[in-house]
Amino acid sequence: MKTYVVGNWKLNFTVGESSIYLHKLMKALPVHRGMEVVVAPSTIALQPLSLQIDRHKIKLATQNGFYRDYGAFTGETSFSQLRGMVDYAIIGHSERRYIFGEDEKFIQKKVAAAIRNKITPILCIGETESERAFGETADVIRDQLASGLSQVGDDELDKIVIAYEPVWAISSVKSAKLATPDEVAEVVRLIRGALREIYGKDAAENVPVLFGGSVNASNAGSYLTVPGVNGLLIGGASLILGEFVDIIEIAKRVRV
Ligand code: PEP
Repeated sequence: MKTYVVGNWKLNFTVGESSIYLHKLMKALPVHRGMEVVVAPSTIALQPLSLQIDRHKIKLATQNGFYRDYGAFTGETSFSQLRGMVDYAIIGHSERRYIFGEDEKFIQKKVAAAIRNKITPILCIGETESERAFGETADVIRDQLASGLSQVGDDELDKIVIAYEPVWAISSVKSAKLATPDEVAEVVRLIRGALREIYGKDAAENVPVLFGGSVNASNAGSYLTVPGVNGLLIGGASLILGEFVDIIEIAKRVRV
């Protein structure tokens, strides 16, 4: 399986800055078959960057998309409009769940709409600090996974990527803490166990599972060697080009 390094730029960079970053990143990276490097710029930058990008080296992800293809939905961009422009969609990110109030029904419709439009969802799941403190992590993970994938058929599971992102470890969260590799390993085991229950043994092994939460060049290696982890979803550190390139180099060294 490939190793994923995904940069989520969130609400940062103008279109011009995004384009310069991409240009420099493409120059810095050789083509590498074992790596899947993905960047997720703002929606407004996706169209120009889709014309600029060398997809042999880097893929584009959208940070969002709406599940209906067209209609009276002011301000939305549909996955059908993004079709052909991006390869991936970040769905279920904790910022969408908790700042914008996206619930499980909304998220599962977005997952289905992305797949329908040939865009691979990166489904983010993860417990909050209080859910962990109350011992609810396993239930939250199982529920978010089962619900997020409820419209995904057995034959579509090869079009899914899961990202485990404990909300308490996201760098922009106040008092964020680093997850230990053991904590990550335990939840990744849970995720694969839940996938096995829902879809069977092969599925549990073949779905890429990424980790995200304050990953940087100093800790990337420790997360990339956690059993069952196939890559990283990176927010803050992906905004610094040099650091993002370092993380990609570390990923090649420790995994490929
Ligand atoms: C994220 O928000 O997906 C994320 C992982 O952010 P950070 O790396 O900044 O914690």
